[in-house]
Amino acid sequence: MLHAGASDITTRFEYQASPRTSQLIAGEGKTLAHNYHPLPVVARRAKAQWVWDVEGKKYLDCLAAYSALNFGHQHPALVRALKRQLRTLSLTSRAVHNDQLGPFAEGLTHLVEQDMVLPMNTGAEAVETAIKIARAWGYRSKGVPANNATIIVADNNFHGRTLGIISFSSDPEARDDFGPYLPGFRSVPYGDAAAVEAAIDDTTVAVLVEPIQGEAGIVIPPASYLPAVREVTARHNVLLIADEIQSGLGRTGATLQVNNVGVHPDMVIMGKALGGGLLPVSAVAGRADVMGVIAPGQHGSTFGGNPLAAAVGKAVVELLQTGRMQANSKKLGVVMGQRLEQMRGLGVVGVRQEGLWAGVDIDPELATGREVAEALVGRGVLTKDTHGSTLRFAPPLMVKEADVHFAMDQLELALQDIQSFRAN
Ligand SMILES: *Cc1c(COP(=O)(O)O)cnc(C)c1O
Repeated sequence: MLHAGASDITTRFEYQASPRTSQLIAGEGKTLAHNYHPLPVVARRAKAQWVWDVEGKKYLDCLAAYSALNFGHQHPALVRALKRQLRTLSLTSRAVHNDQLGPFAEGLTHLVEQDMVLPMNTGAEAVETAIKIARAWGYRSKGVPANNATIIVADNNFHGRTLGIISFSSDPEARDDFGPYLPGFRSVPYGDAAAVEAAIDDTTVAVLVEPIQGEAGIVIPPASYLPAVREVTARHNVLLIADEIQSGLGRTGATLQVNNVGVHPDMVIMGKALGGGLLPVSAVAGRADVMGVIAPGQHGSTFGGNPLAAAVGKAVVELLQTGRMQANSKKLGVVMGQRLEQMRGLGVVGVRQEGLWAGVDIDPELATGREVAEALVGRGVLTKDTHGSTLRFAPPLMVKEADVHFAMDQLELALQDIQSFRAN
C-alpha cells in the first residue's frame, strides 16, 4: 500500500473509453446541460441485472438506477402489466376515476400497513406532498398557529432537488446560489434521538428522516435510533415521516427499512422502485386521520395516479407480497457484506451494509470513489461513487450469488489495478 497523502496523488486513474464512445459523450455534452457527471458508458439495452453499451460490452448493474431497478431491468411481470395497460388506457387525469388506481392504493396500503395513499410521480414530489400534509395536519389537527409549523430533519439528508427540499439540505452543492430558501425546518445530527427531542417545541409538526441515509453514503443509524425517535414523536404529538424512497421496497432485506427496526411511522414516502424501473411512480402512505386533512383542490398532479403508473405499481406490490425479493436481498446481502469486510487491507477502510445495499469507503490515500468506479467500468461492473471516497453497491435484488461474487472479485481486481497504477 502506498503511503502518499491524498494531495500527493497527482495523476488520476482514468478509464479510457473507446474513440466511438468518447465521441458520443462529447457530442451529447454540447446540447445537454451538465447537471451530472456520468461514467464513460453509453448504455443501449438491458435485461435483468445486465446492461449492454453501444459497442456490445456487457456490465453487471450494481447501481440499479439508485434502487429504481430493484427488480432488475425489464422484469417480465412488470413489463406485461405495463404493456397490457398501454393497450387499454394510459391517462385520464384525476378528473375521472380509473379502474387501476383503487386496486393499486388498496394493495400498497396493505403492503406497508398504512390506511391511505396519495399517488405522485417523482420522489421529490412525494416528499413535498408529505411536508404539505404534515403542515396542514399541524394547523388543523394539532392547533399550531398559522404559518409557524416547523419540521425536524437530519444533517446530511437527501430528499430530492426541489426548492422546498434543498432549503433544508446541508449539502452546499445542492443549495448554494439557489436561495432564498423556504423557512420552517430544523436540522439536527443524524442518529441522535436526544437531539430530535431537544429540537421539538409547540410548533413542531413532524420529523422527516431517511431510515438509512442513501446519498450520504449508506449511513446506518444505531438500531435504537428510530425506535427512540418513534417514542419521542408519539409522546410530543409529532408525526414521524420515513423517507423510504431509496431504502424501501426490498432493498434492505425487508419491505421497508422501518420493518427491520420495528417502527411504524405516521407517513411513509415511496418512489424509485415503486415504478418498477419503467415509469416514475411515487406515493405517500399514511394514517387516515393525517392523510385525511387534504381536501379536494388542495393538492394534486396531472400525472399522479395515472392508469399506467397504477398498473405497474400494483404489479410491483404483487411482486413484493411474495417476500422473495426481500429474502434474496437479505441472504445475498450477507455474502456481499462478508466479501467487502475481507477487502480491508486492499484499500477498503469502511463498510456499511444492509441487505443488497452497501457503502464502501476507499482509503482516500489510494483512490477516490470515482477512480474505483471507473476501474470497475473497465471490468464490467457499474457502480457509483458518492461524497469523495465512498462507493455504493446496490445491485437488483434478483441477482444470483455468483453475480455478487463476480462484482466483489472485480472490486478486488479494480483496487489492485489502481494500486499498480500508483506504483508506476
Ligand atoms: C432519490 C431520492 C429522493 C428523490 O427522488 P426523485 O425521484 O429523484 O425526485 C428522495 N429521497 C430519497 C431518500 C432518495 O433517495
